[in-house]
Amino acid sequence: IFENVPTAPEDVIFALSAAYKADTVPEKVNLGADQILVNDQSLDHEYLPILGLDSFRKASVKLILGADSKAIAEGRAGSAQCISGTGAVYTGARFLSLHYPIKGATCYISKPTWANHRAIFEGVGIPVKEYPYWDPVSRGLDLKGMLATMEEAPNGSIFLMHPCAHNPTGVDPTPDQWKQIADALEAKGHFTFFDTAYQGFASGSLDKDAYSVRYFAERGFEMFIAQSYSKNFGLYSERAGNLTIVARTPEIKKSIESQIAKIQRAVISNPPAYGARVVSTVLNDEKLYSEWEDNLSTMANRIIDMRKAVFEELTRLGTPGTWDHIVSQIGMFSFTGLTTPQVKVMKEKYHIYLTDNGRISMAGLNTGNCKYFASAVDDVVRN
Ligand code: PMP
Repeated sequence: IFENVPTAPEDVIFALSAAYKADTVPEKVNLGADQILVNDQSLDHEYLPILGLDSFRKASVKLILGADSKAIAEGRAGSAQCISGTGAVYTGARFLSLHYPIKGATCYISKPTWANHRAIFEGVGIPVKEYPYWDPVSRGLDLKGMLATMEEAPNGSIFLMHPCAHNPTGVDPTPDQWKQIADALEAKGHFTFFDTAYQGFASGSLDKDAYSVRYFAERGFEMFIAQSYSKNFGLYSERAGNLTIVARTPEIKKSIESQIAKIQRAVISNPPAYGARVVSTVLNDEKLYSEWEDNLSTMANRIIDMRKAVFEELTRLGTPGTWDHIVSQIGMFSFTGLTTPQVKVMKEKYHIYLTDNGRISMAGLNTGNCKYFASAVDDVVRN
């Protein structure tokens, strides 16, 4: 029956991790992956409710919208615990494919973005187009292009955006630029879908990193926010995530949650408990929360220090080209500007693993390997 099913290509990110693991050279550097936090918690093995652990859901909504959120106070903010950020994007997308009132509406994603965005939306039958985001000349945000696409898109299109630490570029809009983006979306009645996988990683402050989402909520936007705890809790394999729903009224919120429960029941039945328990324990304990935020701030500052160290070393070496973007970009990722052939040399000659589009995970750099990395960049750029 299935003899005509073609073999799908391997996922490039997972293939990169496998290549790194298999490499036996001691100097190898993994700029693709991150380490996993271990947390011991006692477990039971009962099912969670279909929409997940209540204390986790409530705390997740509060984390992204803020303790003083109007949407929470007015009972308009709902949620569903999902299979991490990926599951939250999927669940929101699946809901839109069934219940979004504008049939055939297109979802616009940033160019570039995390590859799964296109796959998820197309997978649920929503057409996908791109809006300009990365300007290769300025190595910054193409705000003009982004706004123009929002203006030209048919009314009521869906716009998927990263609230902070944009993956893969590390380029985020400023508060003034967010205002212009919100104006453009509002004028055309577009639907906002935020995907946040790095809250706490950009500035080190959980509140600051939620700026865009809270600003949109304050302005009264109805929206979905997919949240991942893979990075900020190091819970990658535990699949802890949440879909926050900001609706116009408490009644609409309830209806959306009920439909999402129906979707969830048919796909995963109910979400996994362990990661949600870890997150809920920390988010609902003042002392643990502040310790966690300190840890995130240490992490964010370490990344900022590594950016400076790489920039200084490239400047010292006189590496051809401009490298200011390494320090101006935000969060875990940096779009180096290295080309695919240069990345190939990085891997083959220097055993440094990064994605073919030149994206590195700053978390993989440390004081012991950043000079090695900079000298390899210097070599591949010159040759
Ligand atoms: N969204 C973005 C933008 C991401 O970068 C990631 C992780 N790479 C995710 C969502 C989801 O990750 P996870 O499913 O592990 O939470």
